[in-house]
Amino acid sequence: MDILHKFHFIDAPVRGIWIRLHRVWKDACSNRDYPQPVLDLLGQMMAVTTMVANNVKEEPSIILQAVGSGPVKLAFAECREHRLIRSIARVDEENPELVYEKQGFRELVGDGQLALTMLLTNNSTYQGLVSLESNDLLINLENYFKTSEQLATRLKVESEGDVLTGCLLQLLPPQNVDDEEVRELDQLRWNQISTAFKTVDGLTAHGRGVKEYLQKLYPNETIYLDDAIDLSFHCTCSKERSENAMRTLSHAELESMFAEQELVTVSCEFCGETYEFDKFDVESLAPSNLN
Ligand SMILES: [Zn+2]
Repeated sequence: MDILHKFHFIDAPVRGIWIRLHRVWKDACSNRDYPQPVLDLLGQMMAVTTMVANNVKEEPSIILQAVGSGPVKLAFAECREHRLIRSIARVDEENPELVYEKQGFRELVGDGQLALTMLLTNNSTYQGLVSLESNDLLINLENYFKTSEQLATRLKVESEGDVLTGCLLQLLPPQNVDDEEVRELDQLRWNQISTAFKTVDGLTAHGRGVKEYLQKLYPNETIYLDDAIDLSFHCTCSKERSENAMRTLSHAELESMFAEQELVTVSCEFCGETYEFDKFDVESLAPSNLN
């Protein structure tokens, strides 16, 4: 059920990605009691982040993170190795009533920053800041790809019940930038394909799959569809990582923690997994930190 397909048009310089999330959406959000608009936001962010990650040849980690002054203080989605996904949001707990049904991205996040970060396997990092002009996350991202990456891009994400379906279309860079005639033709084809994409709804209608969707949208186009990639919710937390976090605490902090309790529990914010430490664990970790 949680799958992604890449596709490309045989007779047009356009590629695309189609995604469906169900279990991943549920699992990634099961740890917290998010209101529906936040669930929708995280689902949309996970779908987009995963499509963007699969639009890159390497296997980067892609993180889409919004931080702002609105009722949603933080919204984070991550895709690693093209298929491992997780997400988290922090809602203003003092004013939960501020998150109401059908709020747009900008209304939820408020004034703030939206960053798209790419971590490559050679440890280099690229970060782009997405301008927040629109209330619609997808329009902001389309503008980002157009202005920052010079890539005409269209994005769509729809939900039906607990199933989320998304699609990305992108015009490929011209093979020969100097050939004006070819560029004009490419643009014309892009206009046809992207207009149909924006005007025809029903990505999720009646459980429609990728083949039916593309057939309905582009009955006269030949489209090559790649095999499905299976997606899953996966958290990178571990006891070792929690240990590393505890190593950063001072002697006084550790001592006061163990003065109150024999076992200290560290919970992962993403998945809810808990790791327990006793005084002995911490002594062996950082002998200089605790007497
Ligand atoms: Zn975790």
